[in-house]
Amino acid sequence: MAIGWRELARRAFSATLGIVVALTTAVPVSAQSAGRTRLPIVRDAEIESLIRDYSTPILRAAGLSPSRVDIVLVNDLAFNAFVAGRRIFINTGTILNSETPNETIGVIAHEVGHLAGGHQERLRDQIARAQIIAVVAGLLGAGVAAAGAASGSGSLAGVGGGLMTSGGGIAQRSLFAYQRTEEVTADRSALVYLEKTQQSPKGLLDSFEGLMRQNMLSGVTPNIYLSSHPAPQERLGRLQEAAKASPYYGKKDAPALQLRHDLARAKIAAYNGGATQVRRAFPRDQLGMASRYGDAIATHLAGSPRMALDKIDRLIAEDGANPWFQEVRGEVLMASGRSEEAAAAFSRAEKLDRSNSGLLKASVGQAIVTGGNPKRMPEAVAQIERGLQTDPNNSTAYEFLAMAYGKMGEIGAAELATAEGYWQAGNFRQAKIFAARAQGKFRPNSPQWLQAQDILTTKIARK
Ligand SMILES: [Zn+2]
Repeated sequence: MAIGWRELARRAFSATLGIVVALTTAVPVSAQSAGRTRLPIVRDAEIESLIRDYSTPILRAAGLSPSRVDIVLVNDLAFNAFVAGRRIFINTGTILNSETPNETIGVIAHEVGHLAGGHQERLRDQIARAQIIAVVAGLLGAGVAAAGAASGSGSLAGVGGGLMTSGGGIAQRSLFAYQRTEEVTADRSALVYLEKTQQSPKGLLDSFEGLMRQNMLSGVTPNIYLSSHPAPQERLGRLQEAAKASPYYGKKDAPALQLRHDLARAKIAAYNGGATQVRRAFPRDQLGMASRYGDAIATHLAGSPRMALDKIDRLIAEDGANPWFQEVRGEVLMASGRSEEAAAAFSRAEKLDRSNSGLLKASVGQAIVTGGNPKRMPEAVAQIERGLQTDPNNSTAYEFLAMAYGKMGEIGAAELATAEGYWQAGNFRQAKIFAARAQGKFRPNSPQWLQAQDILTTKIARK
């Protein structure tokens, strides 16, 4: 299931700060039968907006519609990215390990090359492919599972969910062997997209070279991205030659984009290893804006809200137009139990956010619900619903929507929202139970009755 940093941080606190906690809640039937899956999907408006801006021109250059491709962040510090279906998965470690936007963009261009080349489509009948679908279905909820059932490839259940676990080794290796033949095509496509969008191919080259160097130096288990993307000297040589022929080879990222990239890196570092990891990410620039942003978040996560507020307020004084500074301010206030002020901070963030993030819109309403003022519940409902319109896969938002309706005494609506939340989290059984309860409280064929009916009648992939 998808999860926000806030929840991730809460769980991390209960364990040790800085250790990524594997997510095991609300796993749907297909993945349950396959054992627990451990792909820590994370939702974050700032990083999603950045990666969206990186990928949109590339997707267009590839002739793909950006609105039809989902970008999924995996909170894992290993360098990795892959495509499955219409989804591009990017590890937060890929961003953290990229010193420039161009390095991450290069990796995205390569992955889009696979997507546009239909490489995943040809994998449809492979067992390994089914395995990936099972993992993805397990984590992202209804969409994939329902699609799988509709297309008749209902054998999603019963395969191991070992994409990221060591247990899935054999299937994983055969998948990678299959992919090997397509790497050269993906490289070539990546170079075309980068040239079309007037961007340098140097980042792609740097990423692969960096990975190879790292591997040779460390001598530990090869990085998963390298295993799936073998970069023998010959392939690297070919890539080098073609890249250097690009008229944009020496082109640098715009300073504003570099700053956004660094701020995202700082946040990832803070959430995965606190102040130490932040310092490690910016060894030469400990007083820069990104370092101080990471430090503010790390201070908040270390449980010092007053100091954190001080630090984030200083950043806001420097750049009042940055929506994510306001969002972090809201997070700190939430952790301090100052929900009404948090709602105001999220609301300012929402107004400044040009990416129109549904997560952020819903956050405003969620903070109002947490505040508990009964008079403000209709406003909370409206705000959360605005968020869900933009981003309907936000299962957490449905939980808060249900709470708001509950406080307003609208039990049918609360049950329906709970049903939707379970559905989005991939817990189809609970979804159907609550949909049935809700349906009895609405007039037959009313919009809510039909919404419940939809949940009750949609077939899901099962054993
Ligand atoms: Zn590849």
